[in-house]
Amino acid sequence: MIYFDNAATTKPCRESVEAVVRGLECFGNPSSLHGLGLAAEQEREKARAVIAASVGAAPEEIFFTSCATESSNTVIFGAARSEGKRKKRIVTTSVEHPSVAVCCNKLEEEGFEVVRIRPREDGSFDAADIISAVDGNTCLVTCMLVNNETGCILPVGRAFTAIKKKFPRVMTHCDCVQAYMKLPVSVKKLSADFISLSAHKIHGPKGIGALYIRRGVHIPEFILGGGQERGFRSGTESVPLIMGFGAACERLSGSIQERFDRVSKLRDILTEKCRSLEGVFVNSREDASPYVVSIAVEGLKSEPLLHFLEQREIYVSSGSACSKGKKSSVIAEFHVPERLRDSVLRISLCADNTEEETDQLIRAIAQAQSSLARIR
Ligand code: PLP
Repeated sequence: MIYFDNAATTKPCRESVEAVVRGLECFGNPSSLHGLGLAAEQEREKARAVIAASVGAAPEEIFFTSCATESSNTVIFGAARSEGKRKKRIVTTSVEHPSVAVCCNKLEEEGFEVVRIRPREDGSFDAADIISAVDGNTCLVTCMLVNNETGCILPVGRAFTAIKKKFPRVMTHCDCVQAYMKLPVSVKKLSADFISLSAHKIHGPKGIGALYIRRGVHIPEFILGGGQERGFRSGTESVPLIMGFGAACERLSGSIQERFDRVSKLRDILTEKCRSLEGVFVNSREDASPYVVSIAVEGLKSEPLLHFLEQREIYVSSGSACSKGKKSSVIAEFHVPERLRDSVLRISLCADNTEEETDQLIRAIAQAQSSLARIR
């Protein structure tokens, strides 16, 4: 099997699987006062400390959630509830993941003014465009660090730092899901009040995410009940998944640069091979995250092409996994020509992929070009 769909999800690493199993065996409720509870609580706090350190945060600034989608929903609706009575503007981008975009759409329906910053003609974002959209009526700026469909890196640190200087009370949120453990992520360098993280994109388990909330920043709690996560997110914590998240994070923490260099080389090899095929175009910019490569195979529809590759045990995505066959509006935002938009494939890499695998992918795409029906 050749797995090139790492932006959708990653294969859990051995360390993470073993930690989940240990967590299932360490079955006490972390809120219980006896020894079994204490053991679970200690494991939970160990993982929290590892994850906090990985983004330059303090452990008490990290809250466990069920996924990054929950983290982002909590922030966006929380900011709207706490600040939105007086301040009605939300600044975001036109290329956010649905976990952010759909929340902003909903608030727009409820009367908020949502300003969506678009990429420039060359597919890049200019921090100045984000900064100038923020005014005294803005309650929240939410901007992803790496786009999940093209790998585009957004100038979040520059934008948020300038915004905070001018409007210290504006809340800043960054969806770091596709950047985390791939590029350095520092909450301080980002000037972020909130960041959303997900374990299953970093070779950890599904069903666990984290939300960073800068000390001193307050939004209302999202899930009420027994008061877990210091009253912010009730419900018995999933200690096994938290431990799996911590183990995945610990495994990758020291090797961000080394993996980035390895994946960059692989991306360069892959894009060069793609460009050598007639009718294959690379949509991702050269300065994008090397982990996500968007291509278009002119004349072929994404879905049959994806299944053609699947028959050869090569797994990729069409656009993003979340769009489930729907045409992606994000690809259009990045100025991919209309004639290519139905022909997009997302090849998303991890450090375990090899050059030989890219050869097999390219051979399979070339076969598809000569055997699949063309779009008329
Ligand atoms: N944000 C981005 C950029 C993503 O790519 C994804 C998943 O594809 C998410 C958020 C959602 O993450 P989760 O599955 O943890 O909710």
